[in-house]
Amino acid sequence: MSSVNNSLFLFAMALLAISLLIAMFPLKNWLVINRTKEKELRWMQWLNEKPTKSEYCSIHQQKPDKIECDFCGASRQLPSLEMVMTSNPKFGIFSNKFDKYTHFKTYICSGCGTELYRERYEA
Ligand SMILES: [Zn+2]
Repeated sequence: MSSVNNSLFLFAMALLAISLLIAMFPLKNWLVINRTKEKELRWMQWLNEKPTKSEYCSIHQQKPDKIECDFCGASRQLPSLEMVMTSNPKFGIFSNKFDKYTHFKTYICSGCGTELYRERYEA
């Protein structure tokens, strides 16, 4: 009788261990999605601190293909990649799915080092 009880107990423990293992994937994936959403919110705020390229052009009456710095007149901007993160990941039991990355870039004047505009794009 006790050996039946023992094997039942072992079976139950094994079942519990397997279910815990299976449950850990979705939990981790769900946490990753949540963290990505929070991160994206923070970086959207960062993006909104400066105008985009088209906003910069309309504010300073400039052409998008020929931008000059408003402070020193230099016509070259250096792109600086600030952040890359998965774009809109979809929840998955074993692994999350996403098909693009979101890039956050800032453009710095080569003459005076001022951050002129910021852009976000997906690739
Ligand atoms: Zn400048």
